[in-house]
Amino acid sequence: MANPAMLTTLSASPTAVVTGGESGIGLATLIRLARAGYAVFSGDLRLDPANDAVLAELAIHRQVCDVRREADVQSLITTAHGVTGRLDVLVNNAGVALVKPITEVTEAEWDRCLDTNLKAAFFGCKHAIPLMKANDRGGAIVNVASNAGLLPRAHDPVYSISKHALVGLTKSLALCHSVDRIRINAVCPGPVGDTGMVNADLMAASDPTAMAEQFIAASPLARAFRRMITPDEVAQAIEYLISDAALLVTGTMIAIDGGKSLGVPPKGN
Ligand code: NAD
Repeated sequence: MANPAMLTTLSASPTAVVTGGESGIGLATLIRLARAGYAVFSGDLRLDPANDAVLAELAIHRQVCDVRREADVQSLITTAHGVTGRLDVLVNNAGVALVKPITEVTEAEWDRCLDTNLKAAFFGCKHAIPLMKANDRGGAIVNVASNAGLLPRAHDPVYSISKHALVGLTKSLALCHSVDRIRINAVCPGPVGDTGMVNADLMAASDPTAMAEQFIAASPLARAFRRMITPDEVAQAIEYLISDAALLVTGTMIAIDGGKSLGVPPKGN
């Protein structure tokens, strides 16, 4: 999905790789970073034709990439570096839900959830860090975790486990690679409207309106403002974490969850 003229214009720009860019938070992040002047490279399981026009206009390079496969993640990162000669930002965003009690989870479902939500970030960090190390200014990695990575949830324990582990990966690698001037942080969103993840839940519900109200009610500020978080609100937090304003920020989790991970909310409203 890249033409040579487009790739020439990207040459030497600050460079960002984003996984899971065809929908929801990833799509909002691609658009925000491209508008901020980054050369943006996106990888996803499938390229959605509905995104063709807007992403082509922003000169965003897209390729098919299954983040559960190391070779795919490596190819995405080396393509970006090959075009611009640098790698500044990696956003490990691709993720899948798994809503089931542990006693009903199959080994294949466990693997799909953990491989997408956790192992893919390991692949990304493994291949991005050496390229960022070669950069005088280092680099910034943002992992898209979840409020479920801060406070476990009873209805989706394996998803919660995957996001807790992603938070652990973030802190551990942040510590290891501060010496390389590489900052590694996470955002912990939810509930985020206009995403494939939330839309799938709503479509599967017998009463989608009641389910949307339930999502909103579970987050104190979402309840107070009577809406979910937007994908672009999460993208703005990612943009902050990769910016110079956060040059000395690493190993931190920004919860963009309207206070959902704080504890049991007050009654009312
Ligand atoms: P989404 O379904 O809109 O986007 C997820 C994207 O990841 C999709 O484009 C999908 O095709 C891609 N993807 C899935 N498996 C992949 C794979 N193996 N390889 C490459 N791409 C793959 O949902 P979203 O809410 O935008 O999800 C983005 C991230 O945000 C996920 O990590 C999710 O866990 C996290 N998150 C979402 C919410 C929410 O309320 N929507 C809350 C907390 C965390």
